[in-house]
Amino acid sequence: MGIASVIFILLVAAASWLFARNIMRVRRNILLGKDVIINDRRSERWAVMARVALGQSKMVVRPVAGFLHIIVYAGFVIINIEVLEIIIDGIFGTHRVLSFLGGFYDFLIGSFEWLALGVWVACAIFLVRRYIIKLKRFMMKELDGWPRTDATLILCTEIALMSAFLLMNAADVTLQNMGAEHYVEAGAYPISGPLASLLGLSTASSSTLILIERVCWWFHIIGILAFLNYLPYSKHLHILLAFPNTWYSKLGPKTEVANMERVTGEVKSMLDPGIAPPEMAAPRQVAGHEVTDRFGAKDVFDLSWKSLMDAYSCTECGRCTSECPANITGKLLSPRKIMMDTRDRLEEVGRTIDTKGKWEDDGKSLHTRITEEELWACTTCNACTQACPVNIDPVNIIMEMRRYLVMEESRTRPALTSMFNNVENNGAPWAFGPDKRLDWTQQ
Ligand code: SF4
Ligand code: SF4
Repeated sequence: MGIASVIFILLVAAASWLFARNIMRVRRNILLGKDVIINDRRSERWAVMARVALGQSKMVVRPVAGFLHIIVYAGFVIINIEVLEIIIDGIFGTHRVLSFLGGFYDFLIGSFEWLALGVWVACAIFLVRRYIIKLKRFMMKELDGWPRTDATLILCTEIALMSAFLLMNAADVTLQNMGAEHYVEAGAYPISGPLASLLGLSTASSSTLILIERVCWWFHIIGILAFLNYLPYSKHLHILLAFPNTWYSKLGPKTEVANMERVTGEVKSMLDPGIAPPEMAAPRQVAGHEVTDRFGAKDVFDLSWKSLMDAYSCTECGRCTSECPANITGKLLSPRKIMMDTRDRLEEVGRTIDTKGKWEDDGKSLHTRITEEELWACTTCNACTQACPVNIDPVNIIMEMRRYLVMEESRTRPALTSMFNNVENNGAPWAFGPDKRLDWTQQ
């Protein structure tokens, strides 16, 4: 086994280990949330996942972006099948080991090349939409800094990877045509063939061509391994999480608000003295820290693991915000920011656990990042959940945080105070006592 093969094996092993470690960290963070059991209507769930995550059904609601996204997605999945060949070649020092597939191999390589070109063009158009056309949803304040850099970095990396793939094939097909040793004649090259002519590669020496082919080959595989390990730190984690996240989608009516069991139990016991009031739930142990059961959500520990998975699955596409009536009418609320803030807070908590070995209260919470003004601007219309291409539910987080403000902090909007008082005093939102309810019949 040559030195190149040994380096390759060590590289793949190290990248795989690091990736597994990062994914376990994300999993640990998601499981900091409250436990909820979601395993009903399983066949419906598989259908939703196939339709929304695999079939990208909600992406194509906006046809241009949807079509381009499908190309990038298909390119990402299908071109990476080629990684299988790269790994075998890298380990055993072979070249185009799958070429025994004959005509099917030609078809595969030809398709990969068309897809690579498609991904290249789609990413370039995505950059134009962001930086030349400047679509409003990509220019919002919440994307300033790292989120915008993250998006740009990944689009440029895709372009670089596809360029390396096509240049590698261009050098390879030229070497094949020259009858160079080791470069077996295999594959069809509908894009890199003309590219080789365009670049005048046939006039280059075989050593130059081998250098180009090898550099691009290593760049391609190192780029893919680096991309894999970058995913857990990026919004591009949605490539993986879109699948479980859609499987665990809310299947009932979008506007349905879950009752709090404790409150329901207390109301039942008030109405029927035979029913005992509910017991306080015992505190949970989370990362070496005791978390008391509370009304609503103060911090990430009070949200369900599904809401935390939602936060990690957000693609930051801004479709929710662009449909949000509160945002459209100039309110501070952006459902995309709610998801980004939740994920950033979760990451912050995760980093503390990593450095200190357990969670220690840092005096901050979700409410440090998300203001009351944002929370109360929500009309709970659910236009955001309808628009989201990966079935994220920002409204659930908003409602849980509002519940905390009202039920634990007694903080509400002045416009709602009289309604709450009326419910408490009159058993109805209106300013009339129960004895006045039938007065209207006397008019
Ligand atoms: S439910 Fe709230 S956050 Fe979602 S679109 Fe409606 S107003 Fe905006
Ligand atoms: S919540 Fe959904 S629609 Fe909103 S930015 Fe995230 S992925 Fe896009």
